[in-house]
Amino acid sequence: MPHLSLYRKFRPETFGEIVRQEHVVRILTSQIEKNAVGHAYLFTGPRGTGKTSIARIFARAVNCEKPVNGSPCGACPTCRALSEGSLDITEIDAASNNGVNEMRDLREKVQYPPVSGKYKVYIVDEVHMLTDSAFNALLKTLEEPPAHAIFILATTEPQKIPATILSRCMRLDFKLIPVEDLEKHLKSVLERIGKEYEEEAVAAIARAGAGSDRDMLSIAEACIVYSEKLTYGAACAVLGAADFHETVKLVRAMLSLDMPTAFSVCEGILAEGKSVGVLLKDILDLLSQVTVAKTCKNAEKLLSLPKELYASVKEIADGADGRTVLRATEIFIKTENELRFVSSPRISLEAALMRVAYPEADADVEALLVRVNALEAKLGSLPQSLPASRAQAERPAEPQPAPSDDGYEFPTEEPVFEEAYFSDGPAAGAKNEAPKQPAAEEVRQKMDTMSEPPVQKTQTAAQSPADEPATKPAQTKSAGDAEGAYARFMRALRTTAKNGVLFTVCSDLLVHYEGERLVFETESKTILGILEKDANKRTMAEVLGSVGVTDYEVRCRGEVKKNPRDALEELKQNFKDYPIDIK
Ligand SMILES: [Zn+2]
Repeated sequence: MPHLSLYRKFRPETFGEIVRQEHVVRILTSQIEKNAVGHAYLFTGPRGTGKTSIARIFARAVNCEKPVNGSPCGACPTCRALSEGSLDITEIDAASNNGVNEMRDLREKVQYPPVSGKYKVYIVDEVHMLTDSAFNALLKTLEEPPAHAIFILATTEPQKIPATILSRCMRLDFKLIPVEDLEKHLKSVLERIGKEYEEEAVAAIARAGAGSDRDMLSIAEACIVYSEKLTYGAACAVLGAADFHETVKLVRAMLSLDMPTAFSVCEGILAEGKSVGVLLKDILDLLSQVTVAKTCKNAEKLLSLPKELYASVKEIADGADGRTVLRATEIFIKTENELRFVSSPRISLEAALMRVAYPEADADVEALLVRVNALEAKLGSLPQSLPASRAQAERPAEPQPAPSDDGYEFPTEEPVFEEAYFSDGPAAGAKNEAPKQPAAEEVRQKMDTMSEPPVQKTQTAAQSPADEPATKPAQTKSAGDAEGAYARFMRALRTTAKNGVLFTVCSDLLVHYEGERLVFETESKTILGILEKDANKRTMAEVLGSVGVTDYEVRCRGEVKKNPRDALEELKQNFKDYPIDIK
């Protein structure tokens, strides 16, 4: 007896045995029962989902004398004749018969009436492989089919079928088979052939089938030959999956940023002859399992891994930080995509490992932008830069800031810490003699040495005209007031410490008062952009509010933000003849 593959041996004979495609089965059986079958069908869907099986059952069912629930009865003379092979059902594999001759031949033969049943059925598999002229020949037949002809075109790539053909077919889309349906089917097959199995092995094989019944059964077949009982070990060996435990070690080391271990385990796996591509895929699979274990309540059921393997996955998931897992997954997906363009995949893999394990090597874009901008602003504006106090003096309408009398010196040019930052030695004008240090640290020190004169000053201003109502604002805010408010703001911002970037950005701002309004200025549009982000805006408003500043403004240096009402007035002035509609 010739050896039959599991898939062929257990090919479904009736619609009831079909796995998953109920939506297609329902349509076809109802057409058979109503005796209202069409002349051309297009079955589309991934391979191994039952297109050909259903086409064959349908071909026999339309000819059957007494169909049972739309399926062939298997007992009537026609069913028996058809099961022995008949000229009435013709299967054409377009992948090997893409010539126009086969289609012309078909066109001739289709004219002869069926031998045993009512219909002649042509099943054209992989129909997208037909050449243009073959499609044309097929189209001519489809345009005027004899009453006894039915065409079933099956394809995995419907987008390659000409529209002229598509428009003449009833299209039925087949779906990938869910893993639990595959498992159920595999178990029933194994029971029918009397093979013992481990649940884990069935689960692994069903997963490897990836939605295709045919693929799953051919994998199962290889596993069955491998050993007496279908074990998980046998399944892994056949699937060529890496030793799961080695991959676990590698991923665990990588996520805990243990570079030496990650590299040596990687080395070991590759030394056993596993390809970089397969290892990458294994790593990605494991990362996705870790994500599931980390986020889903019923992860164990979803993953359907053997117990001890699930325990390993769960252990990694519990130990790893979610953000690291996500970042690692993104890095490996990118690496996998790039793999076919690189000449040495192994270096790409190792680079990916390194990127995961050394997060500081990937600079935070915002932080980098801030640093670059600070440098650019400093380099570009050094000679021409306008001191904040002078810039204010040049605005005639504004009150001249009074010189501070409280002993605190308003910085004449740029904030002191920047000079310290850019010069090699201790800055000449620096208040504290600190050596070169990061800007933020400088500003912290500067603030710590600062007194809080503005508070006293406001008090005196409020006290001296004793009879005036307390609500009346103090006369004119000085530069010292601005610096005092700024210092209080920075201190408060540092203690909230939610956002290091915001602190760094804010330590670069220039501050002065315009009337009662505290104005923050920057020379960089990028920094302004960062400050105008919603989250940063909110934090700034909160922190300023906590130090008693409610009237403030942030803008680029030299720009005065217009009050929208003023802007509207100006617009009306400029366009007197046009009606301006306010929305
Ligand atoms: Zn029958």
